[in-house]
Amino acid sequence: MENLGLLVDTTKCTGCRGCQVACKQWNQLPAEPTTFKGTYQNHPDLTANNFTILTYHEYEEDGQLKWYFTKRQCMHCLDPACMKVCPQKAISQTATGAVVRDMAKCVGCQYCTYACPFHVPKYNASIDKVTKCSLCVNRVAEGLEPACVKACVTGALQFGKRDELLALAKQRVDSLLSLYPRANIYGETEAGGTNILYVLTDFPGKYGLPEDPKVSPVTIAWNDYIKPYGPWLIALTAAGSILSFFTTRLLGAGKAAHEEEKFHG
Ligand code: SF4
Ligand code: SF4
Ligand code: SF4
Repeated sequence: MENLGLLVDTTKCTGCRGCQVACKQWNQLPAEPTTFKGTYQNHPDLTANNFTILTYHEYEEDGQLKWYFTKRQCMHCLDPACMKVCPQKAISQTATGAVVRDMAKCVGCQYCTYACPFHVPKYNASIDKVTKCSLCVNRVAEGLEPACVKACVTGALQFGKRDELLALAKQRVDSLLSLYPRANIYGETEAGGTNILYVLTDFPGKYGLPEDPKVSPVTIAWNDYIKPYGPWLIALTAAGSILSFFTTRLLGAGKAAHEEEKFHG
């Protein structure tokens, strides 16, 4: 089956946060206290009860205040680092590429939160689980679009086949280049490619998106070299402990005998 994804065209986003509210409502996520910090952005980052947020970055350019809005959520990576490190196999990819978690299997170890190059999954201490956007797989299975897409009245969000969205994004960037020479697509190749794609008018960093998201070498080492030998390492560690126990006992007994011999001449 073909991958399904989301295209976020930041040039059409008005920062209304309809998507943020719709996501909370559909997923029945409780409100969380927050603090006003002089910006429209609320919350400051994704949280375990906010699977998507609008980010607002402000800059003074040519003597004018300029806002760069964008929507953040799980990127639904083509090669998800979170899935690779999960020791419980609680994270999987659907046939259409959505990265989903099985809450019953999640033990709250938070390995996925450290592995994600986009800093997406968040730990919910009250349930001892990690949560994130599911790309609304439950709605998509019923032939509906994701709740955030449904709520977006400006057409800034589009849901569909990744290949088709990518072609649309390329056309859009081409049409923007005369006005925004740094217009670009984000998600085509970042971290190996993602099912969430963005049309940006400037560098990703201006929107608070990681410029060069990379899976950490520790995650790669864990997945490629350590995890496959996990059961052997556990067995070796156990064998080492047993060996150490007997060695200590034997050495202790030998030392005691030696001391006895010395004492009695
Ligand atoms: S963005 Fe992070 S949580 Fe989402 S699929 Fe990629 S690695 Fe996993
Ligand atoms: S796809 Fe669904 S879960 Fe993900 S941000 Fe949109 S509404 Fe929330
Ligand atoms: S609903 Fe659409 S226009 Fe409103 S904030 Fe979300 S993406 Fe932007």
